Amino acid sequence: MKVIHIIFCTMYDFHLHLARLSDPESIADELERRGYHYVDVGCEPWEWEKVRDLKRAEVNAAEKCAEANRAAYGIHPMIAEKVTEEDFTTLRKFLESDSTAQVGEAGLDRRFSGYESGGAQEKVFRRQAELALELGRDIQIHCVGDYMRIVKVLREAGFKTGAAQNNAPQNNAPQNNAPRPIFHRFVGDVSAVRAGIELGAIFSLHADSFLKKSTAAAIPGIPRDCVRFETDADENFGERFAGMDRTPSAKEIAEALIKDLGDVQRLYKLAIKGA
Ligand SMILES: [Zn+2]
Repeated sequence: MKVIHIIFCTMYDFHLHLARLSDPESIADELERRGYHYVDVGCEPWEWEKVRDLKRAEVNAAEKCAEANRAAYGIHPMIAEKVTEEDFTTLRKFLESDSTAQVGEAGLDRRFSGYESGGAQEKVFRRQAELALELGRDIQIHCVGDYMRIVKVLREAGFKTGAAQNNAPQNNAPQNNAPRPIFHRFVGDVSAVRAGIELGAIFSLHADSFLKKSTAAAIPGIPRDCVRFETDADENFGERFAGMDRTPSAKEIAEALIKDLGDVQRLYKLAIKGA
């Protein structure tokens, strides 16, 4: 039996929507106290300022195998048809003001308007992919639909095959400034894994990633260095407290996040064990 030695980094949530949770400042404090770090993703213009203000210092820079807190600014496909030129100007400003920030989340979602080939979603995603390349930033990608269309747009935007292949560093800074696509809440199959690896992608796994058979089967084929974990917690995170007769405290939310992230890591361990 092949022995796989894996060191799981300290709690690092690769995709979280802090600004969409209630009382995010207190939650950020609770998370900081517990050594829980994250990429805080803002996917609509109203969130960007909040995301910037919520950013905690690089508290974990000295920790072994740790990744620093980071912000991401982007335009989600759900609002692709509403986005203005001014929004793009503001987005660029936020990204330029923080050299560690990622782009996103951006992508395609068949549940929202503008999904058709050449439609608003594709245009807005392409511009953000180009911006990520121009600024040398990783891009958080949302895909509900066809991963091959995502790959096609990335290639057209200039993402190169073999960019950071199998070379992803443990921290989440792009290596040699080659921006990486991050397949957030990954639910693709083996062909999406193959195409993503070719582009030097990071695969951010969520509990949902293990629900679909074709994704669960593809996960062991992702190089360990290219795997991350996330909760994607947003305004719906409160639903897990359904039945509670009061608003959950920041402490309870922080603990629930830790539990959820740990569950994803355990699912991953199980998935690669049998492979
Ligand atoms: Zn998200």
